[in-house]
Amino acid sequence: MPVASKAAIQRLRITLRGAVQGVGFRPFVYRLATAMNLTGWVLNSSAGLTVEVEGPSDQLAIFEQQLVRERPKASVVTVHESEWIAAEGSSRFEIHASDSDSGKTVNVLPDLATCQECREELFDPENRRFHYPFTNCTNCGPRYTIVLDIPYDRPNTSMREFVLCPACRGEYENPANRRFHAQPNACPVCGPRLNSTIEETAEALIQGKIVALKGIGGFQLLVDARNAAAVARLRQRKHREEKPFALMMPALAVARDYCKISPAEVQLLESQAAPIVLLRPKPGTDIAWNVAHCSPYLGIMLPYSPLHHLLMQRCPYPLVATSGNLSDEPIAITNQEATTRLKDIADHFLLHNRPIVRPCDDSVVRLTRGRGGILRRARGYAPLGIRVWRELPPVLAVGGHLKNTVAIAVGREVFLSQHIGDLDTLEARRAFERAIDDLCKLYSFKPQGIVCDLHPDYASTLWAEKSALPLLRIQHHQAHAAACAAENNLQGEYLGVSWDGTGYGLDGAIWGGEFFRGSGSYFERIAHLRPFGLPGGDVAVREGWCSATSLLFNVFGEDFPEIAYAADSTENSRLDQAKVLNMLVHGTHAVSTTSVGRLFDGVAAIAGVARRNRFEGQAAMLLENEIGALRTEEAYPLSGGDWEPLIRGVIRDKRAGVTVPLMSARFHNALVNWIVEVAIESGLKQIVFSGGVFQNRYLTERASAVLESRGLTVHTHRQVPPNDGGIALGQAVMSGGTVAL
Ligand code: ZN
Ligand code: ZN
Ligand code: FE
Repeated sequence: MPVASKAAIQRLRITLRGAVQGVGFRPFVYRLATAMNLTGWVLNSSAGLTVEVEGPSDQLAIFEQQLVRERPKASVVTVHESEWIAAEGSSRFEIHASDSDSGKTVNVLPDLATCQECREELFDPENRRFHYPFTNCTNCGPRYTIVLDIPYDRPNTSMREFVLCPACRGEYENPANRRFHAQPNACPVCGPRLNSTIEETAEALIQGKIVALKGIGGFQLLVDARNAAAVARLRQRKHREEKPFALMMPALAVARDYCKISPAEVQLLESQAAPIVLLRPKPGTDIAWNVAHCSPYLGIMLPYSPLHHLLMQRCPYPLVATSGNLSDEPIAITNQEATTRLKDIADHFLLHNRPIVRPCDDSVVRLTRGRGGILRRARGYAPLGIRVWRELPPVLAVGGHLKNTVAIAVGREVFLSQHIGDLDTLEARRAFERAIDDLCKLYSFKPQGIVCDLHPDYASTLWAEKSALPLLRIQHHQAHAAACAAENNLQGEYLGVSWDGTGYGLDGAIWGGEFFRGSGSYFERIAHLRPFGLPGGDVAVREGWCSATSLLFNVFGEDFPEIAYAADSTENSRLDQAKVLNMLVHGTHAVSTTSVGRLFDGVAAIAGVARRNRFEGQAAMLLENEIGALRTEEAYPLSGGDWEPLIRGVIRDKRAGVTVPLMSARFHNALVNWIVEVAIESGLKQIVFSGGVFQNRYLTERASAVLESRGLTVHTHRQVPPNDGGIALGQAVMSGGTVAL
């Protein structure tokens, strides 16, 4: 018994919003209140978590402090309100049943990696869940991928078809238990089951077979990462040329044998989101050469579900773990989809009977500026809301075309879908439509307007145009900058540096090297890269040497430098150098672009680093990687965004035999200097970086450091990717303050 307090008896009502359900909050509140001898109740409501506590006022103040300070690890509190209400003379503390009437503004929680306690039970022969692949508790397990409706209660999840056995029910109903109201609670007696054994699956892998495993957010294709022939077979069957495959490592200690891992990267790997973390590989390991080809990074994740832990215990070596799909198609989630769509890819299937409600790929992050930068936002992060500084109209934002995500705006919260992917295939466009329906249904959301990209040919734009709702079109690079400003809570004026590969400009040209004076929904384009012709249009995006040819032709005309690069004809490109030059001479088939992404392609081709992109951004990535540990202040001239002196510099260096790393550093530094030049001229103090080009770590970190050394504040992405996966957030926030909607 705590010492009796002389303070007056009062009652306090506390409301918490954010990710507060399905994380063990109620048992935590129950334990805290009863330990302090307070009375009242706690309730999961559709608005979040409501607590009423009664007792001596000084105790209530301590309770409120501890409630926030010691809250469950997985919870995220975005709003915390409290008010004094009349005391009721209650005699005990209770957990009340959920109320599902009020507005649906509660966050659905992301899927969480298996916690330490569940891992210990999994490998404890004395435990009733020994080797049970669906073990979970309120601190871990699936959430977003099993929830059908909110509030998050078992009848509203795909676990509703499994009836709890007496032992599981006991845990589920005991407020003191770690599994109190753990919605996916299950055991070998009452829960989901596998169709095959872990042993058989491990055996298939060691024989070099391709395994389709039903994971948390969809199927994964697994293969022994040390077996080049098996990896090649996977590439060929999946139609995936060179884009690196991610790996699952049995444990952190094994990952350290293969990669250099900093303490901050360990935190990312071991976080509850358990994403794929891009790490620097160590040389001379037994990872097959074709896993990552010439990519400077290895994407590594640790086992994040009990099923993965059990499999990796049997396979104590790195496994390729990639999305269960054909290249460019969405990930398969049902057993039926897997056995049809993946039948020509996988040799062995490890299925189970717990339905996956919605697809959620593995997320990808990389350490940038000392913190985790999200490159693909899906499992572990989606669908956490992003809180913005102003109320937004209830709009649906449909995103871009590549790396698509969609978003809904609910008051001051933007709920961004998981990564959907490129909308080139019919399958992907169906997944896009399903994601929209799903997000709206989950939050009982009725959009009153739609926001789309200005590009007339994006599949997302075409879909939006078919709807009967008012439509707002947002320029692509403005949406990029607005997204980054929004997640950094920027309310005043800022300089938006919006650089990427392509986006439809206000003048119909292809933009991608833009500077905006931005504030709210107001944008003024104050600088951009000097335009150049992009011969062949979309083809040139893949064939980076087309950009090089155009840049060189503009600078040297007839004296086209022979040493520039050789257009190879080994790959059956629809274009060759002669054709491209002909287009340039006659001014045909060339759209105008200000894209920094295309400038990267051009310089990468001229420098001899890469002639084409086998996946988006490949040439730029290889060019960045050339810098390695080299540090120099030297830079090509790029004043006013005029690339002509820069291209002359590259050619001069190439003739003089300057090394590629130095050429690359001089190019990157030129871009940094240009940003600094525009920033100083603009007089703006807040600088925002967005767009796919800022996935370039050297550029982002150096530009940030130089600007900060001059007293400016740099904002980069935190919760959404700098690439087109963040466009929907920018679209949603730009609907605020518009008259049209
Ligand atoms: Zn757990
Ligand atoms: Zn059970
Ligand atoms: Fe973009």
